[in-house]
Amino acid sequence: MRNILVVEDSPMVLKILEQMFRQQADLQPLFCATLNEAQVLLEASAELFFAAIIDLNLPDAPNGEIVDLVLHYQLPCIVLTGSYDEQRREEMLLKGVVDYVLKESQYSYDYAFRLLHRLERNRSVKILVADDSNATRHFIRNVLRSHLYQIHEAADGEEALRILQEQPDFDLLITDHSMPGLSGFELTKVLRQKLKRHDLSILGLSADSKGSLSAQFIKHGADDFLRKPFCPEELTCRVMSTLERRELLNALQRAAQIDSLTNLYNRRAFYEQGHNLLQAARRSQRPLSVAMLDLDLFKRINDDFGHASGDAALVGFARLLQEAFGQTLIGRLGGEEFALLSPQPAAQLASQLDQLRQRCAVVPYAKGAPPLSFSAGVYQSADEALETLLQQADLRLYQAKQQGRARTCIQLDGQPATQPVA
Ligand code: GH3
Ligand code: MG
Ligand code: MG
Repeated sequence: MRNILVVEDSPMVLKILEQMFRQQADLQPLFCATLNEAQVLLEASAELFFAAIIDLNLPDAPNGEIVDLVLHYQLPCIVLTGSYDEQRREEMLLKGVVDYVLKESQYSYDYAFRLLHRLERNRSVKILVADDSNATRHFIRNVLRSHLYQIHEAADGEEALRILQEQPDFDLLITDHSMPGLSGFELTKVLRQKLKRHDLSILGLSADSKGSLSAQFIKHGADDFLRKPFCPEELTCRVMSTLERRELLNALQRAAQIDSLTNLYNRRAFYEQGHNLLQAARRSQRPLSVAMLDLDLFKRINDDFGHASGDAALVGFARLLQEAFGQTLIGRLGGEEFALLSPQPAAQLASQLDQLRQRCAVVPYAKGAPPLSFSAGVYQSADEALETLLQQADLRLYQAKQQGRARTCIQLDGQPATQPVA
């Protein structure tokens, strides 16, 4: 829960804000109608607030004096005002307010709340600013800091490249085009050989007045472009929409790879990651073990206790797998079927699965339900295709079912027990 200081004297606006805050379970407003009230509150407990929404025209402070007070306490400050004044807007933005929003329509209020939520996420967003001009870097840093982003700087393309190689967790690169050494275009081109848009967003900058420059930047792999000079709002809006696009891409990527019920990799992602692991194991001549797991008599759980209990069993079992096999690739291949791909020898993986069986029996999924149980087949090899490994593990799983379920098979019938698996 985040506390938001709201300084507003208009009853009508207060009514709108109160109603909007009611729909935001994670934001708790504290309302003040005057500068004096806000001052008393901030003096006593400024550290309790996450951000402030303020009106510029208050009964005891008609000229935006409230901004200085809120900024003095280093509180991110969103100005919500009824009157548009170009000079005042510029002045406020340069002072370091997050944004200057006009109380024009419902959309303005929605925008202010979008900003509040964005601020929350911005704390963990890392931005690298590459520009050879100290003044531009300083300007960008100041504007973006008010939005709580983590800002790092590079004075040329080479330095930016080095920082990004050393710290791969940056979310956005803002890069000038003309810099000594590696230009912004070249930097973008080099980076895009390795990093996709969902890994790193790139926003190009240039003072060049040629119209084709923006297109060129984007063709080199940048996500967006800003022509210098730009105003603070232009910068924050572009940065915000670039990051929102990236978050959307990441959410799509995640939805395509992750099973929404269990949060495990789905079949497709398991195969993709599995192929990579298999190749790596081959290169380093390490063995790889694969296990196929299937919950026992699962249909009965659904039939006797309902589908929701079946789902709870799947979720509980998946969590157990994640706890027990932290470093192992785990996937839900479909229904109540799971697969593991592990660098451990088959015998070790099988014995770990046998240990898991006891914990599996106490997974709570429905009142009065029988203990949850699973069968497994394990196979080891790094020389065959992933599909073959899974097929071989599946044959052993089938055998475990045939032999009475609730067990792990690593040897097929007819094979001598001493024969190495593979
Ligand atoms: P066996 O021990 O031989 O594996 O028997 P079983 O009952 O586990 O196997 P069967 O293949 O007959 O039944 C699997 C059931 O899993 C049927 C299907 O409705 C159920 N199932 C598949 N996906 C889900 C799911 O996402 N949620 C729930 N609740 N049930 C699912
Ligand atoms: Mg089953
Ligand atoms: Mg099954």
